[in-house]
Amino acid sequence: MHAGDVSPYHEQPIVRRIALIAHDNKKTDIVEWARFNRHVLARHELCATGTTGQLLIRELGLQVSCLLSGPLGGDQQIGARIADGQVDLLVFFWDPLEPHPHDPDVKALLRLAVAWNIPVACNRASADFMISSPLFGRRYERLQPDFTDYVSRGWATAAASADQVA
Ligand code: PGA
Repeated sequence: MHAGDVSPYHEQPIVRRIALIAHDNKKTDIVEWARFNRHVLARHELCATGTTGQLLIRELGLQVSCLLSGPLGGDQQIGARIADGQVDLLVFFWDPLEPHPHDPDVKALLRLAVAWNIPVACNRASADFMISSPLFGRRYERLQPDFTDYVSRGWATAAASADQVA
């Protein structure tokens, strides 16, 4: 298993920051999944895109911090939280059968989740595996990607361009 530090011994209960999103055709799925796992989810910090979050509050009485609706920027808000290190897990039931006006945002969000090594569940089976993983309730130091080389490459390119202009 590749994990920086996994310990079965911890004093404090682990509180995960979980972001939840479901496209319209997948909202029933996420509510059913969350209902089944309500007792687990209720112990964690939840945030969600607007409509998904409101549904989870209304149907299940969960405490959810609601962002904007996905097409209005909610996906991007979650992406920004990931980049800021404020999300531990992403549950994103996206619809594989319908185009959406915010498809670029969907791609951007999934890209950021992969870039920052965030566990992502895109369907119920993956979400079941994620929430029932032995790692879910244990301390887990996610490997933090080191983008130093990538960033300095950008600086080097900018410096070379500036030299050419001068
Ligand atoms: P919603 O957004 O939860 O506001 O419906 C989900 C999405 O379409 O990204």
